[in-house]
Amino acid sequence: MPTHNVIIIGSGPAGLTAALYSARANLNPLVIEGLEAGGQLMLTTLVENWPGFRDGIMGPELMAEMRTQAERFGAELVRGQVSSVDISSHPFKVRVSGGEHTARSLIIATGASARLLGLPSERALLGHGVSTCATCDGYFFRGKPIAVVGGGDSALEEAIFLTRFASQVTVVHRRDSLRASKIMQDKAFANAKISFEWNTDVEEIIDDGKGEVTGMVLVSNRTGLHKKVVVDGVFVAIGHTPNTALFKGQLALDSNGYIVTHMGSRTSVPGVFACGDVQDHIYRQAITAAGTGCMAAIDSEHFIDGLPQHLGDSERGLEIADAIIAEEATKGPN
Ligand code: NAP
Repeated sequence: MPTHNVIIIGSGPAGLTAALYSARANLNPLVIEGLEAGGQLMLTTLVENWPGFRDGIMGPELMAEMRTQAERFGAELVRGQVSSVDISSHPFKVRVSGGEHTARSLIIATGASARLLGLPSERALLGHGVSTCATCDGYFFRGKPIAVVGGGDSALEEAIFLTRFASQVTVVHRRDSLRASKIMQDKAFANAKISFEWNTDVEEIIDDGKGEVTGMVLVSNRTGLHKKVVVDGVFVAIGHTPNTALFKGQLALDSNGYIVTHMGSRTSVPGVFACGDVQDHIYRQAITAAGTGCMAAIDSEHFIDGLPQHLGDSERGLEIADAIIAEEATKGPN
């Protein structure tokens, strides 16, 4: 198999934007879509904060459009899960179930997965009252009572944000003290719209046969007592896990496992770029992921421009490429 100019791992807004830009730069990118093709937007319903759609657009429809647009310019998308990568030497090796691909540059857009409680009802009602993103979905709950699950900074930040829309926000936390920073706690305690259910687990999210959240069954992990609470929305904010298992020991990751990027989308290995939620635990928006996807495509294009492509995959060509990479590496970050 020929060496690809660029392989993009992941097909959410970051990966598909990188694919679009790389394709339009004539780099014929190969996109390995992953098991959850389309990423987190496939789990949402109406997206109202993607510029250009004044009435919003359904998440899966937006992703289908992005996919078609990337393909139109020559991106090749393949289903499949990457089983391992080797970025210790050039060209980089990417193994998928169907075999091994090699690439001059690699764009990692594997995203982060919102942690879920693991209830079947939670999965079934995702996008129908259950959400993992207050910024995306808060607007749908104007004047309605909702719950936020979790006790960290994300949970309280989301709870505070959601009081702009909701009539009442109940924070459900499994312990009797919060993990969130003191300042965030003070803000939440001072907010009249926020109340707390301490030492409490969510046993079930209910829809009363309506296909939309109508309430929750809570259980005290101290007394075992159950209670039913009426809410129209449940925001699960118990953290995210960046999808970086493939890169452990090969790339610099931060203490939470996110890929460290510098100077745009550069990682600790020259020629390997990262974009979207796999390197961003702050903004986590489709539009910011797309923006960094664009940056990664441009960064990888510049990297490839510096490689001796006229020598193709000849041994000498790869030797020179290795030398360029080694030289880049000695420069270090910034
Ligand atoms: P986090 O700090 O790991 O907190 C996760 C929360 O969810 C914890 O309270 C945890 O409970 C709870 N939890 C985890 N698994 C659970 C389960 N299965 N069932 C019920 N509850 C569960 O995650 P995060 O809040 O997303 O924050 C991640 C990082 O980003 C942190 O370093 C945070 O400070 C930072 N962050 C900062 C800001 C800000 O400064 N504005 C905003 C958001 C996030 P326990 O407490 O019992 O473990």
